[in-house]
Amino acid sequence: MQLRMMIKDYKKNGIEELKNKAVQYNIYKNSVLEYGSSLFFIRKAEMGRELIIVKQSDTFDQFRGEIIKTDGIYTKKANLSNENAAVIRDTFKYTQPKSFGKDETTLGLGDRLGIASPGHIAAIRGTNAKPILAQQSIRELQLTNRTYQDVLDDVTWAVFQEGYRGGYGADGDHLKSAGEVKMALETGFTMITLDCSEYINNTINKMTMVEIEKKYKQLPFTKLKELEKYYLNKMFVLNSGEKITFKKDDLMKTALIYHKMIDFTRGIYQNQIKKSDRVIDFEISIDETSTPTTPQAHYFVATELMRLAVDFVSLAPKFIGEFQKGIDYIGDIKQFEQEFKLHSAIADHFGYKLSIHSGSDKLSIYPVIARYTNGRVHIKTSGTSWLEAMRVIAKYEPDLYRKIHIFALRHFKEATKYYHVTTNLDNILDISKLRDEQLPELLCQNDARQLIHLTYGLILNDRQQGNYLYKDELYQKWHKYEKEYRIILKRHIGRHLKKLGIKIELKLSD
Ligand SMILES: [Zn+2]
Repeated sequence: MQLRMMIKDYKKNGIEELKNKAVQYNIYKNSVLEYGSSLFFIRKAEMGRELIIVKQSDTFDQFRGEIIKTDGIYTKKANLSNENAAVIRDTFKYTQPKSFGKDETTLGLGDRLGIASPGHIAAIRGTNAKPILAQQSIRELQLTNRTYQDVLDDVTWAVFQEGYRGGYGADGDHLKSAGEVKMALETGFTMITLDCSEYINNTINKMTMVEIEKKYKQLPFTKLKELEKYYLNKMFVLNSGEKITFKKDDLMKTALIYHKMIDFTRGIYQNQIKKSDRVIDFEISIDETSTPTTPQAHYFVATELMRLAVDFVSLAPKFIGEFQKGIDYIGDIKQFEQEFKLHSAIADHFGYKLSIHSGSDKLSIYPVIARYTNGRVHIKTSGTSWLEAMRVIAKYEPDLYRKIHIFALRHFKEATKYYHVTTNLDNILDISKLRDEQLPELLCQNDARQLIHLTYGLILNDRQQGNYLYKDELYQKWHKYEKEYRIILKRHIGRHLKKLGIKIELKLSD
């Protein structure tokens, strides 16, 4: 009925009138556009969203959906399906992911739920930073029962819905094998974050020098000679004036810790990244390991990769201090600054970007990051969009929140096997003693944040007699409160941007 009125209105008064009445018609204003001879927009329905295409055209026929004839006009109601998302990307180039290279400020804005991108776009629109809106690790896919196609398609719809033309990236995050890289590339992802942790030898630091020397001598002779010729007792001066040197002990250790990781990375680069028909932002991640990356090790890894002609856009070292999920940095900020300065100088020296993982909520170190990188940096934030989604539930659906909170407490131990955290559940206020309006504040307290942050997979997957215990209801509520969620997220990500000194550059085209 409403659709009929809308089409009549459009026929009589044109597209601007439709945009003016977006609220009344439940349509997303920024999605309304004319293309070919058709009108496109996304409409909010009771249970979800749908793509509406009014008037036949070449593109009209490519979408799958139900055709309705109103006032002599053919209109199509199409699902936001994987199939239709592919047609959207083909038709509207700005909905395709792209690569950004080595100079832009990029922000990884992972979205586990597939509903956060509108809020992320609202935060980043008009700034000089670029969003990597699709960003998911294999672990996250498993815990949320999604595929890379789903991740990319959810973002595609969000970009179209918001009419965001600033460009976005898609990051296959923490991929550990050729097979995983292949899948991400085939899905159309534009950034590959290679997780090298399984090829980093963490046992070396626990060995005696005698053991290390013995192991070192087992490396191929030509390799040893080459390494020694290049590094031993040499001094490398960075553009910043700082110096890196390698004594024999350092060289032996570093070579043993990282040589397999270097070979692995080279293989992936040569066989997959370089051969891709698209430009790929290739990121090297050596952060998910127990050994913090010393500036010396960072320099060694970068130099070796360069010598092997591996072209990469960013590198993620493991910085000192703790980057726990969902909370601020734990550690000595002065010491962090001293090392960060060197890491940043090394990245500058070679011309790639530093990448900071688990970056959400680490606001206390953002000014340091901003000072030394001058905006040539990649920062990954992710899971806290989920926390903010739960804040929406705490605020508007307190009963549901209470149930989930108690569930999370019961299952916390199970969830922590995936993470390193120091959460103390005793610090969390007793929910039975809190009034409804106090619930959102819970999500400002570190231990409660980690409680909800880490149990997301269990909360979303728990079933009873084949039905999801919470998932479907949660999604219904998020759909209902999508405006509120967008505002909360915009503020949350906005805080990060501000601490990074990201400027607002109003470009209307975005
Ligand atoms: Zn990482």
